[in-house]
Amino acid sequence: MKFLWFLLVPLMIFAQDPKVIPVTTQQPEQSKLYPIVIVGAGAAGTMAVKRAVLNNTEVLLFTGDKQDRKRSCGNWVKKVDNVPGLEKYKRPVLELRNEVLQELASGPLSSNLYVIEDSICSIEKQDDFFKLIDRSGRIYFAKYVVLATGIMKEQPLIQGSLRPILPFANNGSIGYCCICDGHRCLGKKTVVIGHTKTAASMALFLSKKYHPTSITILTNGHVPEFISEIAVLEAPIKEVVGNNVLSGFVLETGEYVEAEMGFVALGIRPNNQLALQLGAQLNASGLVITDEDGESSVPNLFVIGDLRANTLKQIYTAWQNAVDAIQAIDERL
Ligand SMILES: Cc1cc2nc3c(=O)[nH]c(=O)nc-3n(C[C@H](O)[C@H](O)[C@H](O)COP(=O)(O)OP(=O)(O)OC[C@H]3O[C@@H](n4cnc5c(N)ncnc54)[C@H](O)[C@@H]3O)c2cc1C
Repeated sequence: MKFLWFLLVPLMIFAQDPKVIPVTTQQPEQSKLYPIVIVGAGAAGTMAVKRAVLNNTEVLLFTGDKQDRKRSCGNWVKKVDNVPGLEKYKRPVLELRNEVLQELASGPLSSNLYVIEDSICSIEKQDDFFKLIDRSGRIYFAKYVVLATGIMKEQPLIQGSLRPILPFANNGSIGYCCICDGHRCLGKKTVVIGHTKTAASMALFLSKKYHPTSITILTNGHVPEFISEIAVLEAPIKEVVGNNVLSGFVLETGEYVEAEMGFVALGIRPNNQLALQLGAQLNASGLVITDEDGESSVPNLFVIGDLRANTLKQIYTAWQNAVDAIQAIDERL
C-alpha cells in the first residue's frame, strides 16, 4: 500500500499549480548560517515567513519542488468558507502565499527574505546548527529550522487507480474533513468512503449534525472495522458517476448508490521524512510531537501546521502554530 501511494501520487494532476515564487529575492548564500530556515510554503510556512520578516530576522524559505507541492493539502484546497476573508480565493493557500511573498519582497524589510523553489531532501544536526541539502544538491546552514511540510490525505483506489475520485475532489463534491466541508452535505444524499472507526464516526457526525437525505458508508472492498447504525456497503467501487458534480457510485456488484456529496475517511500520509531523519519523536500517526511553542524533541527544530501532532488540521491552526514558533525563536535569537 505504501509502495502504491508513492507510485501514484505524481498522478495527482487534477489542478494546475499556480506560479510559485512570484518574487525575486536576494541570492541565498550556501556558506552562511541563517537564523531561521522554513521548509514548506503552505498555510503554516507562509505565516511563519511573514512573521519572521516582520520581526526583522533573516529567513530562508523553501517552497518545495513541484512534486512536493502536489503532495501537500494546501495545494488542493479550493473553496474555503470557514475562514473569514478566504471565500473570495479560488486556490486560497497558494494565492495567499503569492500575495504574502510579493508584499514582503517589495516592503521595507525585504532584505530579510530569501526564497528557493526547491525541496529539502536531507537534514542533519551538527553541534548547535542544522545542515540542509536541497534536491539540487545545494547545502545550507540554519540555527533554527521550522518544518511546515504538511500531510496528504489518503485517496481511495478505484479499480486500482486514484484518478476516478480526483475530478470530484477538485469540484468540491468530495470532501476530506467535516470541519471544512461537513455543512455541504446538508439535505444531500451523502456517502463516506472508509472502513475504519474514523469513517463510522464521520458518518455518524454528519448524519446527526447536517441531516443528509441519506448516508451510506462504502468500505470499497474492505471489511469494516466497526459496527454502525449507518448503512454499510462493502463491495469495491467500480465507477464514480457524475458530470460536473457527483451523482453516484457504481459498485462491482452492479449496485448503484446515489450520492450528491462524498467524504473520504482513509487517514493521512504525513510528510515527515525530514523529522524522521533528525530522529524527532512522532505519535502513532507519524505526526511530530512538540511542546506548546512547536519545538520538537530535537532542540531548535520547530514543527508547525498539519505535521504537528495534536492540532486541528486547519488553516487558522497552521497560522497560530507559525506565530507561536517564530515568536519563541525570536525570543531566543
Ligand atoms: C481538499 C481540502 C480542503 C480543505 N479545506 C479547508 C478549509 O476549508 N478550511 C481550512 O481551514 N482548512 C482546510 N483544509 C486543510 C488545510 O489545507 C491545511 O490545514 C493547511 O494547508 C495546512 O498547512 P501546512 O502549511 O501545514 O501544510 P500545506 O499547506 O499542505 O503546505 C505544505 C508545504 O510543504 C511543502 N513541502 C513538502 N515537503 C517539502 C520538502 N521536503 N521541502 C520543502 N517543502 C516541502 C509543500 O510544497 C507545501 O508548500 C483542507 C485540506 C484539503 C486537502
